Amino acid sequence: MRRIFLASLMVSILITSSLSAADKIVIAHRGASGYLPEHTLEAKALAYGMGADYIEQDLVLTRDDHLIVLHDITLDRTTDVASQFPERIRDDGRFYAIDFSLEEIRKLNVSESFQIRDGEKVQGYENRFPIGSSSFRIPTFEEEIQLIQGLNKSTGGDIGIYPEIKQPEFHREAGRDISTAVINMLKRYGYTTKQDKVFLQTFSFSELEIIKQEILPQAGIDIKLVQLIGGGSSYAWMLEADGMNKLAIFADGIGPEKTLVIGRSSTQSELEITPLVERAHAAGLQVHPYTYRLDPGQVPSYASDFSDLLQKHYFEAGVDGLFTDFPDRAVKFLESTR
Ligand code: CA
Repeated sequence: MRRIFLASLMVSILITSSLSAADKIVIAHRGASGYLPEHTLEAKALAYGMGADYIEQDLVLTRDDHLIVLHDITLDRTTDVASQFPERIRDDGRFYAIDFSLEEIRKLNVSESFQIRDGEKVQGYENRFPIGSSSFRIPTFEEEIQLIQGLNKSTGGDIGIYPEIKQPEFHREAGRDISTAVINMLKRYGYTTKQDKVFLQTFSFSELEIIKQEILPQAGIDIKLVQLIGGGSSYAWMLEADGMNKLAIFADGIGPEKTLVIGRSSTQSELEITPLVERAHAAGLQVHPYTYRLDPGQVPSYASDFSDLLQKHYFEAGVDGLFTDFPDRAVKFLESTR
């Protein structure tokens, strides 16, 4: 009798954990950017092969209005623009993507992120792909959608995209409507309903309102939207008791910085799980925090290792998905819990 009870208990535990783990997703942050230079088609193909559920694109516009996949509105951190186009520097010492045509952008060599120290390029994460090795380019949004949809066809997979509109106010000041350009591209490639595998994200709440109330209705489509939440004071209202209900009018999910989910002062014996996930879920919002990295110094001390960090966020804090530079590790972790 006791044995039967234990067996049925085991089965119910297994079912419970497999159901919850099955719903959780892995978002490849800038592709498999822990292994190959961020936002290159190579990093995206690797993320696809590693089994990520969604692959992220950060988007900015070129001078001739092409959407390119680039994290910054400037080209300095990840390309050799300074040596190829030295005369195109602005007064602030930066090279802006919006000052370059797509044809010019295509000439740039992309590398792992770096800083200049004593005239030398020093890569930000020293264990990652070496600067100066092999050959990489900045892709357009359209090329990247075609890559992922092409792989969905050739592998029979159904991997989603997770585009972010970068600095919409900067683009508007330059006379450009980047959000409409993104939504037109999504519509052209069949991302038109909340059932389609796309989440559209931005840090700008005012832009999110414009997208939800004007741009999507004008395009005649309705897709899932995500409000990103940083640590700055402009996001403070979102963290208050009724903040998530206000966001839920416009968004389907939130993408908070991960310290907003489990506090910085947490220890291995005392985890400070904030009310954020509970409030978001109560408002019907999914929660996809960023960014989970296993480079030296990137795993918070409250976690014993990277898997423990994932365990604490996915299953103790209860997030629905997360952005990671190491999608293979998160995919394997979730598989191990099923
Ligand atoms: Ca992003």
